[in-house]
Amino acid sequence: MHAPRLTFADDNGLLPGSANPNIQEKVTPMGNAYEIYALRYATMSPRTPHLNFLIPDPHETTAQDLDYFVWLIRGGGRDILVDTGFNAEEAKARARKLTLNPVDALANFGVAAETIRDVIVTHLHYDHAGNLDRFPNARFHLQDREMSYATGRCMCNGMLRHPFSVEHVTTMVRHVYGERVTFHSGDGEVAPGVSVHRVGGHSDGLQVVRVETARGPVVLASDAAHYYANLQKRSPFPIVYNVGDMAQGWEIVERLAGHPDRFIPGHDPIVSEIYPRASDKVDAFALHLAPSRSFAK
Ligand SMILES: [Zn+2]
Ligand SMILES: [Zn+2]
Repeated sequence: MHAPRLTFADDNGLLPGSANPNIQEKVTPMGNAYEIYALRYATMSPRTPHLNFLIPDPHETTAQDLDYFVWLIRGGGRDILVDTGFNAEEAKARARKLTLNPVDALANFGVAAETIRDVIVTHLHYDHAGNLDRFPNARFHLQDREMSYATGRCMCNGMLRHPFSVEHVTTMVRHVYGERVTFHSGDGEVAPGVSVHRVGGHSDGLQVVRVETARGPVVLASDAAHYYANLQKRSPFPIVYNVGDMAQGWEIVERLAGHPDRFIPGHDPIVSEIYPRASDKVDAFALHLAPSRSFAK
């Protein structure tokens, strides 16, 4: 029995004709040089140390806010979106404060949702996989294990199910049936110089994204590390499916990035403090440029 070939990663996640034939001309000696923008669309505040670390430092009495982002990868004549955020309805259901819908943040940044052809969904948690119905021309890149996890027996458990929205997961199921999902298993390529890598841990099919830029490969860690400190201190965020995989995930992220300043945590407000602002209309930060503070020892 043969499933439609395009929905599997054995084509490296590339659609025929989706690679820009001109991309070779854009190749620098360092490889492909993409731009990456973190778009912040919400913030959760205040928080306690127990919300940010499974076992907090007993001396810590305060805790960082939690910022919510989607990420735009730009280059080779295309825009690739990483994650889709949540909408006002979901924000209300979870008592979160939404600054603006990520789709509107993109529009304010000059990117219409209809022009997005590839959306990488790092995992299916509510804050990463809402708005899946707002990208009519996109393919969705997802790990096999995330789809299995989010639709399987673990979802009978309230604690494991809590970060998921059945509406979001159902929309993704509809995209599977509509042949709009490219499944990856482990490592996969979305475009030349843009690859996905399963790390699991926080969610069973969590994947990180490695992007070639002029300053070297930058790794969008998503929830493999909510904060710089989760990875730097080897201290898990409390929402976790498999702690062992999470610990391995930090190693994978470090290896893929190759430098402590080239991994980007998924929810850390420090990102907005150390990366250059890229818009006066929306909270956008240029991750392909050097940060103002270094974590190199
Ligand atoms: Zn998550
Ligand atoms: Zn998250």
